[in-house]
Amino acid sequence: MGAGLVLAARPGWARPARIARARLPLIMIDPGHGGHDPGAIAPDGVFEKHITLASGFALRGALLATGRYRVNMTRERDVFVTLEGRVADAVAANADLFIALHCDHLPSPELRGASIFTLSGNASDGLAAKLANDENSADRFAGPGIAGVSPQVAGILASLETRATRVSAATLAQDIRTSFKGVVPLLPDPSRSANFAVLRDPSTPSTLLEMGCLTNPLDERLLTSPKHRALMAARLTSAIDRYFDDFAGSRDASAGGIPG
Ligand SMILES: [Zn+2]
Repeated sequence: MGAGLVLAARPGWARPARIARARLPLIMIDPGHGGHDPGAIAPDGVFEKHITLASGFALRGALLATGRYRVNMTRERDVFVTLEGRVADAVAANADLFIALHCDHLPSPELRGASIFTLSGNASDGLAAKLANDENSADRFAGPGIAGVSPQVAGILASLETRATRVSAATLAQDIRTSFKGVVPLLPDPSRSANFAVLRDPSTPSTLLEMGCLTNPLDERLLTSPKHRALMAARLTSAIDRYFDDFAGSRDASAGGIPG
């Protein structure tokens, strides 16, 4: 009976999702690497590609449970997908957000924590530039003749990128940072930028999340824990909720603080 009272107090609560199911925002989750591209490998042999896929499933489950989103994934199995193919999937599906999931590997095993990347022609720091280089080079696994993002295509995409897309991506990155704070360990300076191939779609706000460092034993323990992945998925989901609550539909290009 208590439940009946609650429902009566919120008339129409369930209706929007039923009316506009097809127009729910579409979130494209991109679990990094896969197939013959293992991504980073922890000192004890854990592959990044398995963590990114498991994390992708956790995030998909958390997003679908809200009833607010549709969710696609660029891969649902241990298969190789080119970087260009991942972006093309998001564009073809007209995704509202593109979220790439990765694990970091840093030169010092003491460094740990998640970081959130948005696209920039200028990397925020030397490590960010190196990381983008490593992640972009995933397409070397595609073999000769099946190139990833050609320099021409990359140049066109970069020049087409709209300021509005950039504002939205920066907003989402900030929402994730806020949502993770005190719950998911963060790098000392977790908002980073670099020229990642998978972030170059000009029409889809995109972010690349390094969920933690496989080179750090504490982070590796977290990343291989289903419980921690579920926690991270829940925090990501609340960041995405906040993003759509605050900014979808009112992307004000006059907002400041956009990374160069
Ligand atoms: Zn990666």
